[in-house]
Amino acid sequence: MSGNLRPDIRSMTKLELEQFFLLQGEKKFRANQVYEWLWKKSCHSFEDMTSLSKSARQLLQNHFTFHTAFPGNQQKSTDGTVKTGFRLHDGMMVEGVMIPAGDRATVCISSQVGCALGCKFCATGQLGFTRNLTVGEIFDQVTAIPDSETRISNIVFMGMGEPFLNYENVMGAIGKITSPEGLGMSPQRITVSSVGIPKMIVKMADDDPKYHFALSLHAATDAKRDKIIPFNLKHPLGDLTEALKYYHKKTDKRFTIEYIVFGNFNDSVADARELAVFCRNFPVKINIIEYNPVKGSGFNRAEPEKTRAFADYLESRNLVVNVRQSRGKDIDAACGQLAGNQLKIKN
Ligand code: SF4
Repeated sequence: MSGNLRPDIRSMTKLELEQFFLLQGEKKFRANQVYEWLWKKSCHSFEDMTSLSKSARQLLQNHFTFHTAFPGNQQKSTDGTVKTGFRLHDGMMVEGVMIPAGDRATVCISSQVGCALGCKFCATGQLGFTRNLTVGEIFDQVTAIPDSETRISNIVFMGMGEPFLNYENVMGAIGKITSPEGLGMSPQRITVSSVGIPKMIVKMADDDPKYHFALSLHAATDAKRDKIIPFNLKHPLGDLTEALKYYHKKTDKRFTIEYIVFGNFNDSVADARELAVFCRNFPVKINIIEYNPVKGSGFNRAEPEKTRAFADYLESRNLVVNVRQSRGKDIDAACGQLAGNQLKIKN
């Protein structure tokens, strides 16, 4: 069978693998062994599965393939941030970013090739949508840390794509990252960041998430949010607020609001007041993020004094606020700048 026709081994459940081995006259425990190679040892080659007999490895080789996200080009920022371009089996590219802090690092990973939501300030949004990443392709971005001495402390789904529009695969990857059968990381070290799709927030709440949720809000009135996040035109803040109230009621969890400050757009004290009003409905933590201009977006970075006054106002309303400097801006690895090395921005 040609490589393209063979299914990706990592799309198989353990039960499906057991059935496969039984049908082939092998013992079903082989599925456990394969699973361990795939998800615990991050193996990408049948040949390397040395606890399996040669014939079992050949059997796998004949029936399956690997759709691996291969780490390719890397760029290192003066602040230590490393951006990696991942080459996919169909020639597509996505990017992931490692942000080190001492001997630990946060990895920021992608969930889709491009993105359909077209947020005006975002380089990925200008690419349009190509396809969802598979569970294996998401998983590979976590295990491909370039430096073996660095331990991953946190994983954030803030790279290319809207994670809630690839919900099943994102949850599948989180399952493999957190399960004892996989990497065994604590789900509390994982943050899924979304533009806020009301029906998916309700679904997430019903699914009892153990990971952290971050909402990319960036504006607290429909008039402003409509201008930067086209999705808001169809699903305004009223719908989002109802879904977030449900999330809080169902999970009793606080979530994070991500708010990029754009110069002379959403950075005034009046904007901070609107944000404080929005936050009255649920317990939140607010991350205020410096913007790194994306060419052609028309948005600029806010002045530091205005950002400070914005944060001071929120603190005066007893809100928990962090002001975040973007990392990796000299290599286009900062928030909203990921565009895929080989994908051209349309404008
Ligand atoms: Fe998509 Fe997120 Fe960019 Fe919006 S900000 S276009 S949701 S990747």
